[in-house]
Amino acid sequence: VKGKAKKAAKQANPINQAAVLGAGIMGGGIAYQSASKGTPIVMKDIAQGALDLGLNEAAKLLSKQVERGRSTPAKMAKVLNNITPSLDYAPVAHADVVVEAVVENPKVKSMVLAEVEGQVGDNTIIASNTSTISIDLLAKSMSKPERFCGMHFFNPVHRMPLVEVIRGEKTSDETIASVVAYASKMGKTPIVVNDCPGFFVNRVLFPYFAGFNGLLADGGDFSAIDKVMEKQFGWPMGPAYLLDVVGLDTGHHAQAVMAEGFPDRMGKTGRDAIDIMFENQRLGQKNGKGFYSYT
Ligand code: NAD
Repeated sequence: VKGKAKKAAKQANPINQAAVLGAGIMGGGIAYQSASKGTPIVMKDIAQGALDLGLNEAAKLLSKQVERGRSTPAKMAKVLNNITPSLDYAPVAHADVVVEAVVENPKVKSMVLAEVEGQVGDNTIIASNTSTISIDLLAKSMSKPERFCGMHFFNPVHRMPLVEVIRGEKTSDETIASVVAYASKMGKTPIVVNDCPGFFVNRVLFPYFAGFNGLLADGGDFSAIDKVMEKQFGWPMGPAYLLDVVGLDTGHHAQAVMAEGFPDRMGKTGRDAIDIMFENQRLGQKNGKGFYSYT
């Protein structure tokens, strides 16, 4: 495996300039992380308000670093200078890699991917941060699917070490090697996985949530379950709190994708706690009420 990894690393194209499409929770986080680790990045969105929010978020994270004595105002300015906000594609054209992080909608993503492909050079790699959409499905909208793969970060990007690099049927080794190298340069730990529903993490996580749903259906108390998993079992957080952090809308959508992808293993037999929370708009931290209250 070591030999293979070395050979693959040699195939990697240098990533000196990046771009991210979408300045939301994930796009803003990816821009911050890339800029902090020395790769300049263009952050493109369709709304000025979103660009402002993305930049403010990066500035807030950097100010915290300065407050904690881990950075200086000069370094902070340098990092912010590494992020170029843009409402058009012109500065994206020079990127070695473009990470697509727009809304989780296959039609919007397919449109954006085809659009950006027409704006960049032949050697630019394009990666999608989709959490649930098949890479092979998205690749159908592209004329160079060999230069396309998944690059799935986790939220919050600056804290979560893992990045799933998803290999589509037509993705080239060179593309995988370049994205692995870029993720490593960003200080992350990349793993390469094949394209399948849930990639790696959600295939582990959703059977766990199914166990949690089952305990609740049997009369379990969510806060007692969290307490055991956190305090006694030693995990950083229990399933209810984790769902509140992820968002019950995101969890609900991903659960449906897993049930459809693996009906025999993760198929559903009826409404469960995740469905009920979602139907009642208890979305978690994002709207202040989930399993717990955040107001
Ligand atoms: P978000 O709604 O916070 O941000 C999406 C951004 O995309 C918005 O700012 C929107 O203005 C912008 N956008 C929409 N259309 C665009 C276009 N044509 N060009 C450029 N920008 C456009 O969403 P998010 O939570 O950051 O999620 C983005 C992607 O990352 C999704 O695919 C999601 O599944 C994935 N993801 C999200 C999480 C998470 O926890 N939020 C975790 C991992 C992966």
